[in-house]
Amino acid sequence: MLRTGFILGNELRKFETEYARYNHTRYAIGVSNGLDALTLSLRALGIGPGDEVIVPSHTFIATLLAVTHVGATPVLVEPRMETYNINPDLIERAITKRTKAIIPVHLYGQACEMDSIMRIAKAHNLFVVEDNAQAHGALWNRKMTGSWGHANATSFYPGKNLGALGDGGAVTTDDEGLAEHIAMLRNYGSKEKYYNEVPGYNNRLDELQAAFLRVKLRYLDEWTRQRQEIACWYNNALQSVTGITLPYTHPQATHSYHLYVIRTAKRDAVQDRLRQKGIGTMIHYPVPPHLQKAYRYLGHKPGDFPIAEELAKTVLSLPLWPGMNRNMIKATAEHLG
Ligand SMILES: *Cc1c(COP(=O)(O)O)cnc(C)c1O
Repeated sequence: MLRTGFILGNELRKFETEYARYNHTRYAIGVSNGLDALTLSLRALGIGPGDEVIVPSHTFIATLLAVTHVGATPVLVEPRMETYNINPDLIERAITKRTKAIIPVHLYGQACEMDSIMRIAKAHNLFVVEDNAQAHGALWNRKMTGSWGHANATSFYPGKNLGALGDGGAVTTDDEGLAEHIAMLRNYGSKEKYYNEVPGYNNRLDELQAAFLRVKLRYLDEWTRQRQEIACWYNNALQSVTGITLPYTHPQATHSYHLYVIRTAKRDAVQDRLRQKGIGTMIHYPVPPHLQKAYRYLGHKPGDFPIAEELAKTVLSLPLWPGMNRNMIKATAEHLG
């Protein structure tokens, strides 16, 4: 028999143990990417056609894609204007008899208000699946993002705070049954080779990526510290600039600054000016999910989610990566003044 160590080998097993430990969960299951981590989580929870899943109106499209890929319907809830994360005060009125789950997204790296979200979920018997793709290592009330929900999805896309050298993702959970189910779904639906219990997928995390991730995981806390320091430099350099809204962190949350996002009414002009100086910025995200062509069939129109629409028009992500120095921040800040 040919024994290759390329798939579902020791590196993956070790990474899963180490990532679970990092996240303070009992299990971590490495999968192919963040979208598959979300999709498999919903599938393993039995969510499908006829079910509704509450998602934020301001998020990356993958949050919604996972819901529609299992055949369920995404129900959008607006974020808070201060934190850009889903507003728990608006969740209850979006719950119907069909609601099965809530997907809070820790957007830009800031933890969502997980106490309130878990309380609402419990009261209505709903599952919670965190989308932790942007917030590895962030905390709500001193508890890690990715450790609150029934199953939690994360991404190791190269640009994320913990990134592989290619695609990757993981599901974290404390539930042994769910962990087994997801591990089975990612590998053709089999526990034992060539014996298939459910029609599964090939959604595995590569051995090679797991090996890279094991090394990078050791640096994650130091990189997060640097991201927070850089955000602090930006805050200081920009605090007196008029017409710009700086990121706000809820007192019970920490922010891992996947992105440092400012808001300005003159967003496009500011972006152009920075571009002319050789400073690249990004917009996360220019079109809210409800106005994407892909989701025309959901029947939403402009004006349905005004906060998400306002954010799409005004947000701007400034350069931020571990290793940036103070002069780079100063240079960027000068052109914003
Ligand atoms: C990146 C990201 C995903 C998807 O992760 P992939 O690994 O790119 O599939 C999902 N949700 C959010 C919020 C993301 O930022």
